[in-house]
Amino acid sequence: MSSTFTYQFDTPTYKGTSTVPTGLFINGKFVDPVEKGTIEVINPVNGKVITSVAAGTAADIEIAAQAAKKAYKERWGLKVPGAQRGRMLNKLADLLEANADEFAALEALDVGKAFNMARRSDVPGTVAVLRYYAGWADKIQGKTIETNENKMAYTRHEPIGVVGAIIPWNFPLSMLSWKIGPALAAGNTVILKPSELTPLTALRLCPLLVEAGFPDGVINIVNGYGSTAGQALSENNIVDKVAFTGSTLTGRKIMETAAKSNLKKVSLELGGKSPSVIFDDVDLEQTVKWVAHGIFMNHGQACTAGSRIFVQAGIYDEFLKRFTAHALSLKVGDPFARDTYQGPQVSQTQFERIMGYIKSGKEDGATVHVGGERHGDQGYFIQPTIFTECKPTMKIVQEEIFGPVAAIIKFTTEEEAVEQANDTLFGLACSVFTRDIDRAIRVAHSIEAGTAWINCHNVPEVNVPFGGFKQSGIGRELGEYALEHYTNVKAVHINIGHRL
Ligand code: NAD
Repeated sequence: MSSTFTYQFDTPTYKGTSTVPTGLFINGKFVDPVEKGTIEVINPVNGKVITSVAAGTAADIEIAAQAAKKAYKERWGLKVPGAQRGRMLNKLADLLEANADEFAALEALDVGKAFNMARRSDVPGTVAVLRYYAGWADKIQGKTIETNENKMAYTRHEPIGVVGAIIPWNFPLSMLSWKIGPALAAGNTVILKPSELTPLTALRLCPLLVEAGFPDGVINIVNGYGSTAGQALSENNIVDKVAFTGSTLTGRKIMETAAKSNLKKVSLELGGKSPSVIFDDVDLEQTVKWVAHGIFMNHGQACTAGSRIFVQAGIYDEFLKRFTAHALSLKVGDPFARDTYQGPQVSQTQFERIMGYIKSGKEDGATVHVGGERHGDQGYFIQPTIFTECKPTMKIVQEEIFGPVAAIIKFTTEEEAVEQANDTLFGLACSVFTRDIDRAIRVAHSIEAGTAWINCHNVPEVNVPFGGFKQSGIGRELGEYALEHYTNVKAVHINIGHRL
């Protein structure tokens, strides 16, 4: 099993060969899983098997945890100067950049996202995150704190130890970098579990980790199912922290497991049901484009998807007309075609889940204004869908659909919009569209969300913190704020004359 799989791409946007290792990457080597399990990787374009990769279980997580602990104690952490850790992260970024086309192609194959999108956004975004944290690696520092003349006190920001990283399938490479970037910069070792649905780019990255110079055991990639490998990672007593991105349901389970095991630290980036609030005075052309990007980008498979669109009454009809035309213009199809905007949803399960939400919207009395059906007759394609006549209590307004489905709701006053925008268990992001600067800031401050975009949506920045209020998560990723979740603060008190 610790073998490789080779794929020949012969597409309009990419031609080339990719060879991907399929084993578990533990202690710098590819190994077979103890229980010899495998996972089939499915092509969402047609439902066919692309290849099989190793499926790790608790036994493999234990082996990886021991390797990561040993590496942490013997050859990583503060034993390696920050500048050196930073050089390795920069080298990894260079290697990824040099192979950007191949990685974008693998991501398009595995997730079903448009190659052009993966090439323009996912891969360069990952490179940028690695470089950003490479820059931090030698700038993580504590403070000296004045107390009195007889004492000196200072803080150290020490690495936590072994970090378990569990990531979802919607942005496999980016999510990997959001975890390993700050974790490695701060001097932790990592066991990363990719989503069982999309393991290919993480596996392809392993030889680059070796080439970048990371010592054996510093990063381990253990593919496997959530209920086995993922669960084992949050149970394992050697693991000091779990950094998770995924659904709120799984986040809750991970927190429970962490509490019942060694009370490991947990940071969670969870689901969302983000509102976009559009006032009468907007630049309509730009607003329609941003709101469409907010909900339809990555086929609606974004935790920050602007899936509840509140439109002020005076502009409602015109907005709906233009938004509809925009949705109908989005090209759905082969991820490798030049003009494709939207590929298939990632899996049969997700496809059925989204179609189930569309059915519930119809049953609850919302109107399918556009879309609402499967696209084509094979694979997991869904038409960009717009619901109108939505009520706040409907499932399509309350629950995360994670697909190309927008719910449009008319409002009259600012107060009403803010109240409805906040009527959700989630609090990941929001956007406000208006030319009135006072109102823009007032509304952005009033909506309970970790990110507020004004006159834009779905544009995170590497140096700006990202994370959720309410049930959208705990902790922040990106920017300097993420480092807080990968370090322990130690206070050191030095007696310089206090006699008893
Ligand atoms: P998911 O929760 O099903 O799975 C995420 C990861 O958790 C996978 O690797 C999975 O194998 C693992 N997992 C599943 N059960 C587990 C368990 N019991 N213990 C440990 N690990 C387990 O989520 P998904 O379907 O892969 O991703 C979609 C979700 O992720 C959406 O809810 C979306 O909003 C969220 N998401 C959030 C962010 C963010 O930054 N807030 C970003 C991307 C996606």
